[in-house]
Amino acid sequence: MGKKEYIHIEEIGEFGLIEEIKKMFPDRRRNETLVAIGDDAAVLNIHDDFLTLLSTDNLNEGVHFDLFYTPLKHLGFKSVSVSVSDICAMNGEPLGITVSIALDSRFTVPMVKEFYEGVKIACEKYNIDLIGGDTTASYKGLFINTSIIGKVEKERVAYRHGAKPGDLICVTGDLGGAYIGLLIMQREKEVHIEAPLATIKLEGYEYPISRLLKPEARLDVIKILRELDVVPTAMIDISDGLASDLLHICTSSNVGCVIYEDKFPIDPVVYRTALLEFNLNPTTVFLSGGEDYELLFTIPEKYGPLFENHPDITIIGKILPPEEGTYMISKSGNRYELTAQGWDAFRKYRRENQ
Ligand code: ADP
Ligand code: MG
Repeated sequence: MGKKEYIHIEEIGEFGLIEEIKKMFPDRRRNETLVAIGDDAAVLNIHDDFLTLLSTDNLNEGVHFDLFYTPLKHLGFKSVSVSVSDICAMNGEPLGITVSIALDSRFTVPMVKEFYEGVKIACEKYNIDLIGGDTTASYKGLFINTSIIGKVEKERVAYRHGAKPGDLICVTGDLGGAYIGLLIMQREKEVHIEAPLATIKLEGYEYPISRLLKPEARLDVIKILRELDVVPTAMIDISDGLASDLLHICTSSNVGCVIYEDKFPIDPVVYRTALLEFNLNPTTVFLSGGEDYELLFTIPEKYGPLFENHPDITIIGKILPPEEGTYMISKSGNRYELTAQGWDAFRKYRRENQ
């Protein structure tokens, strides 16, 4: 018997680990399984008229949220949004969600109900039902799992693969807000710990803070695409950061890409706060700040005119043949290779706990 390989998870990271798991399940046992591991949601063919979508997400205290500055109602809302976003990323319509919680002894009945108030507001917003869950105790910490089911017509499904050279790259809303919101909340937490009586300063930062605490899935954009009769050739939701998620599309589609810095939609408060208060390049925040839950998608070039000056959608670049690489053209015209420096569960967690 050979010696067992000893590899730390941080060495291969979250995506490397998912690849390892995927390799262990190369076969499909069921004809119904169209897409298993590797997209924003699994795709099952169990109905003649549409495809069934299924996706699951964990939100863990201390890793994904800090209860010091996260109201439970917002957390309930966010838990649902994060899952709805994965159904949107398949160009689908969400139907129902399960929400499971593991609670430690700090939690009271009103606290749990507060969390579910947020779940309820989100269910109303996205027009879905809470269809179940599981309730357990945890030794320490709040753990949330959501599983969502949705559907999409066969001719409208959008995968991460499917982008073609010449396609335009589109992004919804603006990016970087959630990350700046996180930095603001972490800063105020430090202040509070150092000086508990000092006033916490949140005025003027409402937008980035709301992006962190109460992100909204872009179901509205899915409806806009439907009304315009446009089916994206590829789509993903931006949870890890634009660069990382765009590279997912490029790898899955076997294409290259170019994006233009002067086109990046960044909110003015986010831009100013990044630059002046955190000494961060707003472009880096745009490319690598995660958790905005906007959509990134590609469309055939002929649809370009539909999205020029669109209030919700910005064209930021173009898909290229694979040999041309994946890069950004800066405002001054220089070429920078895209690297995935966004969220990687294990690498980031390790960095923060070193
Ligand atoms: P997202 O950020 O959109 O939630 P992830 O990056 O978490 O997507 O997951 C990418 C793909 O890997 C999805 O198809 C997901 O179902 C799959 N996946 C992630 N973790 C596991 C796991 N532990 N076992 C099987 N599949 C997994
Ligand atoms: Mg996703």
